[in-house]
Amino acid sequence: MQTITVKTNDRTDFVDITRRVAEIVAASGVEEGACLVYVPHTTAAVTINENADPSVMRDVKMELDKMVPWSDGYAHGEGNSAAHIKSSLFGCDQAIPVANGRLALGTWQGVYFCEFDGPRSRRVMVKVSAG
Ligand code: ZN
Repeated sequence: MQTITVKTNDRTDFVDITRRVAEIVAASGVEEGACLVYVPHTTAAVTINENADPSVMRDVKMELDKMVPWSDGYAHGEGNSAAHIKSSLFGCDQAIPVANGRLALGTWQGVYFCEFDGPRSRRVMVKVSAG
């Protein structure tokens, strides 16, 4: 298990961690298997989406804030219920196939750390398994 540290710069921030995950896969020596990317936080997530055009994630952020407003009479006293809800919507893990020693991502796919209550320093756990 390897750990990546991610510094986020905004309340909502999508950080492309594809290269860092790919480096862990390459160093593992695993040719065929799976790469688990896991975020051990309750107001963050990990997702896979287009990393060619940055406006895609900007649109995701914009629509997400409409779907889950920051303020909506929430019960949770910490004031970050929207971030908890977004975390559950996106999920805290992704499993990516490893083929020929590389992440089997599609041409336009990238792995994003999703910050929903930043800015903060966060951790991402990466486990590459053969099989
Ligand atoms: Zn909270």
